[in-house]
Amino acid sequence: MKTQSKQTICVHEGKKPDESRGINTPIYTSTSYGYLDTEERLYPRYFNIPNQKVVIDKLAKLENAESGLIFSSGMAAISSTLFSLLSAGDHIIFQKGLYGGTINFIKEDFNRFGISYTMLENNELNSILDAIQENTKIIYVESPSNPLLTIIDLEAISDICKSRNILSVIDNTFASPINQNPIYFGIDIVLHSATKYLGGHSDIAAGAILSRQDLVKKIAGTSLNLGGSLNALMCYMMERSLKTLAIRVGKQNENAQRLAEFLSSHPKVSKVYYPGLPEHPGHETAKKQMTGFGGMVSFEITDPTIYDFQKRLNLVKPSMSLGGVESTICAPSLTSHRHLTKEKKEQDGINDNLLRLSVGIEDTTDLINDLEQAMK
Ligand SMILES: *Cc1c(COP(=O)(O)O)cnc(C)c1O
Repeated sequence: MKTQSKQTICVHEGKKPDESRGINTPIYTSTSYGYLDTEERLYPRYFNIPNQKVVIDKLAKLENAESGLIFSSGMAAISSTLFSLLSAGDHIIFQKGLYGGTINFIKEDFNRFGISYTMLENNELNSILDAIQENTKIIYVESPSNPLLTIIDLEAISDICKSRNILSVIDNTFASPINQNPIYFGIDIVLHSATKYLGGHSDIAAGAILSRQDLVKKIAGTSLNLGGSLNALMCYMMERSLKTLAIRVGKQNENAQRLAEFLSSHPKVSKVYYPGLPEHPGHETAKKQMTGFGGMVSFEITDPTIYDFQKRLNLVKPSMSLGGVESTICAPSLTSHRHLTKEKKEQDGINDNLLRLSVGIEDTTDLINDLEQAMK
């Protein structure tokens, strides 16, 4: 069979047949499964019940991975993965510019468990090479990053890791599996906050990891002790959402590009961060490794204040989180990155007048009109 397109995979991959000939996967609610005459031991916390498998099969196919695990949040996926792979005495390198919750996790929980880390001050390949120690086990990146859309060269990261027996891990949330498949570039483990694009309707909290069979097995071993799996009902909701992932993200890419172009030509906008703009420092790398530039656009405005601007918006909703079908906007300095010290915010470019726009699937002109009237 010819390779299928992502749109087709989104709709059809991983379905489990219904005995009554219904075309949807049934929801298997059981937490108790028979065990006689079989080696299988099914249990929701073991990541092996039917509705979990369906979602993982779809996501694994989309990410070109052998297997994966579905979690109850993005942070459950991130923390379970890192605690599965790292032990006391190990070292891990983090890129500059990460999701605020990930930074919190590292700062609050790593030292207590004897795990040492380097948070890079810039993402130049030389700085990454300089940070490598004898006990470095993982290089962890996020590309495009939250909220400044920094782009990291995935092939270069994977080359550095492969020659030194280091694992490469990426948080691929912002790209979604539609725009970027890091495993093609040699990255070992792909993480998602499935709360964002994968769920896509601002009503499911979930997370996922996709990787090779041996690594997934290793991560599952510790993860089932940590207990962050996703229940059958939410897995069904996720399967339903994933059917429209490709068309949603396609429209979001298109809208975001137009909005980024509009914003960068507006006199009251002093800065726009979007990898689809030729002036973005990561544009060439993004072109090489992404098939779409994504639905996230960050920008700084000089006037009105970001509070007044958000109050004046009619369509775009000032609210946290991202990746839904509706456009939302928030100030990272007051939301995802509020726990960072003033110095760290400054150092990371999280200014007080920075806004992060999550572009939805609405009509492009309606969105532009809304932004324009709020800046008057
Ligand atoms: C939201 C987010 C997370 C955390 O996911 P939760 O589902 O909120 O736990 C991790 N990484 C990125 C890039 C995110 O945007």
